[in-house]
Amino acid sequence: MNITTRFAPSPTGYLHLGHAFSAWNARTRADVFQLRLEDIDSTRCRPAFAAAIIEDLRWLGLAWDGEIRVQSAHLSEYQAALERLRGRGLLYPCFCSRAEIARAQAAPHGAEAVYPGTCRHLSEAARAERMSAGAAYALRLDMAAAVRQAGELRFFEESKGWIEARPLPFGDVVLARKDTPASYHLCVVHDDALQGISHVIRGEDLFEATHVHVLLQALLELPTPVYAHHRLLRDAQGRRLAKRDFAATLRSMRAAGVQPRAILRQFEEGIAA
Ligand code: GLU
Repeated sequence: MNITTRFAPSPTGYLHLGHAFSAWNARTRADVFQLRLEDIDSTRCRPAFAAAIIEDLRWLGLAWDGEIRVQSAHLSEYQAALERLRGRGLLYPCFCSRAEIARAQAAPHGAEAVYPGTCRHLSEAARAERMSAGAAYALRLDMAAAVRQAGELRFFEESKGWIEARPLPFGDVVLARKDTPASYHLCVVHDDALQGISHVIRGEDLFEATHVHVLLQALLELPTPVYAHHRLLRDAQGRRLAKRDFAATLRSMRAAGVQPRAILRQFEEGIAA
């Protein structure tokens, strides 16, 4: 079987060693390795970081195949996917502020706070009135209805076997909002299908989100790839590497004279793993 993987960073900061590990995992498994910039969230993404990602991957020697998929250049495609979900009666506008939502109960790991469903119960008249008054709104997925429509769902996690997908605990996830016209969940399933990704290889921090992705694949009639969530690299104190840890960025390592070969050798020998 031809294995197609991808590395899909969001240009919200510089790549660190954890990203390099993810990209290396995806590259070494692949016959075809795609690069995608998940830059839809204009409040957090910066073109300078996108350029830096490309430069850092080249420096590391992890070459990708074909064109880079830049999500912000394809908004109409995500819009069409939203329309399909709307056509199935699964979207509703939500006028709640982030502060109101933050007061809702705690979220499952990796998800945003579970939304209590307040705006799901608004009448059509109330929705129309708020929209015509110019109120900002997000589009949410009616999760209970979506799960009913999709029926039983499962995905294959390489190290674990078949897993039943249970998206219900995520609640009515946001699929679009004013400053982010299509959410990560929507764009990632759209693009994984578009780019022919057979194996999604990414960090285990995204394992839980897979439940939502598999649901959206079913609703949009897209194939579900094989998933392989790898462990996350940790620093000497056992903390997860994150964008705030300047010391671990590839740029800072490069400035300190670290050779790309030395980084990849660590991965190959499982030292940094
Ligand atoms: N863009 C996501 C991130 O940078 C990763 C998406 C994915 O691998 O599914 O965290």
